[in-house]
Amino acid sequence: RTLLARIARLDPQLNSFITVTEEQALAQAKAADARRAAGENGALLGAPIGHKDLFCTKGIRTSCGSKMLDNFAAPYDATVVEKLGGAGAVTLGKLNMDEFAMGSANESSHYGPVKNPWDLTRVPGGSSGGSAAAIAARLLPAATGTDTGGSIRQPAALTNLTGIKPTYGRVSRWGMVAYASSLDQGGPLARTAEDCALMLGAMAGFDPKDSTSVDQPLDDYLAALSQPLAGLRIGLPKEYFGEGLDPKIADAVMAVVEQLKLLGATVKDISLPNMQHAIPSYYVIAPAEASSNLSRFDGVRFGFRCESPVDLIDLYKRSRAEGFGDEVKRRIMVGTYALSAGYYDAYYLKAQRIRRLIKNDFVSAFEDVDVILGPTTPNLAWKLGEKNADPVSAYLEDIYTITANLAGIPGLSMPAGFIDGLPVGVQLLAPYFQEARLLNVAHQYQ
Ligand code: GLN
Repeated sequence: RTLLARIARLDPQLNSFITVTEEQALAQAKAADARRAAGENGALLGAPIGHKDLFCTKGIRTSCGSKMLDNFAAPYDATVVEKLGGAGAVTLGKLNMDEFAMGSANESSHYGPVKNPWDLTRVPGGSSGGSAAAIAARLLPAATGTDTGGSIRQPAALTNLTGIKPTYGRVSRWGMVAYASSLDQGGPLARTAEDCALMLGAMAGFDPKDSTSVDQPLDDYLAALSQPLAGLRIGLPKEYFGEGLDPKIADAVMAVVEQLKLLGATVKDISLPNMQHAIPSYYVIAPAEASSNLSRFDGVRFGFRCESPVDLIDLYKRSRAEGFGDEVKRRIMVGTYALSAGYYDAYYLKAQRIRRLIKNDFVSAFEDVDVILGPTTPNLAWKLGEKNADPVSAYLEDIYTITANLAGIPGLSMPAGFIDGLPVGVQLLAPYFQEARLLNVAHQYQ
C-alpha cells in the first residue's frame, strides 16, 4: 500500500507505469501473507514487482507501448509472469516501454515518454525505460525487462541500476510479445546484483512452450554471489574504448577496473575486431524479424481496428497505418526491404554472416578471459527529444550492447558512479550460461 501511494504521488511526473493493477496486487499480497503464515519463506514471497508491458498478463492489458494493443488483454500469463507469481511476487502494474520495444530512450511509447528520475529533462533509456525509472525512483524494488539489443542494460546504466540480459534461451519467451525473436531475451532490473540474482533464479529455466528455451540446469545465482574474485581474468576490448566514447565515462569504467584489481582480478587487453559491423548487422536483422513478427497485427486478430473499412485491404492498411507509430513503421519498412527478393542476399544474408563473425570474436576472446568489461553506453542520458530528428544517432548508442544479443551471450550492466549528477554504467559480458559469474562480479564490486 505504501508503494501504491508512492506510485500515485510520484508517477505522474515520471510516466513509468502504463497500468497500475491495484486490486490484483492487494489480492496477491494477501495470498502471499497467507503462504507466509503457513510457514513458507521465499525471498520473493510478497515482494512488489512490475512487468514490462510486453509480458502477457491474464485479463490485464498488455499494450507493448502501442496504440495497436491498447485494448488487448491476453487470455493467459507469460511464463515469466507465471513463475514470478508462483514465487509469491506481487505485481503492482505494467511498465511503460518504447513501442514494441523499439528504441533506446522510451520516447516512442503511445503512452508518452518516460522521464529519468535523476534528471526529469532527460531520457531513462529504453526500451525498458518504465521498468528502470520506476525502480530508480523507488516505486518498485525490481522489475522485468527485455533486451533485444540492450533494452535491459542501457536503461539500467542510465538510471544507476543493475540489469542482466541472460543467455539466449535461458529465460522463456513464451507470452512475451516478440520484437526480434532470435535476439529477444527477458531478464530483471533491480538496484543490486543480489536482487537480480533472486529475480533471475525465479524467471529462468527450461520451458517446453518455448522452442528456443534451453534445457540445462540452473545455477544457484544467490550462492554464486559470495565467491571471491581472486584470479578472475578480465578482458578490456580496445574497440570498447575507442572513438565515440565520452572520455569521462572511460575514466569511470577504468576506476571500476582498478577496484576489481584490488579484489584480485587480472586485466588483459583484447580485441573484438568485428564490432564495427555490429550496428549495421543488428539494424538489418532486428527490423527483418520485426517486420515478420508484426505482420500478425492486421486489424483482424489482435488489437486496434480502423473505423468503417471499405474492404479487407482497406482494413489491413488503415489499421496498421493508424495503429503503429513512426519508429515501428520505419523498422517494418527497413525489414521488409531487407528481406525482399533481390535484396535478401545483399542485406539479410550478409548481416547473418557478420553475426557469425561477431559470435566467433567472443568465443575466441573467452579462451583467454573470464569476463569482458567495458562501458554500457558511449554517452550519459541525453535530453528528451534530443535524438528524435535523427534515428541513426539513437541507433549508435547501442554499439556496446547489441553484440551480446547477436552472439547470444549474457551481459550485465552495473552502476559505476555519477558524472555531473548522471549515472554511468559498466557492462560485463561472459560466455554462454555464465550468468552466475556476472552476478558474482557485480556483487563483489557492489
Ligand atoms: N535500441 C535497440 C532497438 O531499438 C534495442 C531495443 C531492445 O533491446 N529492445 O532495437
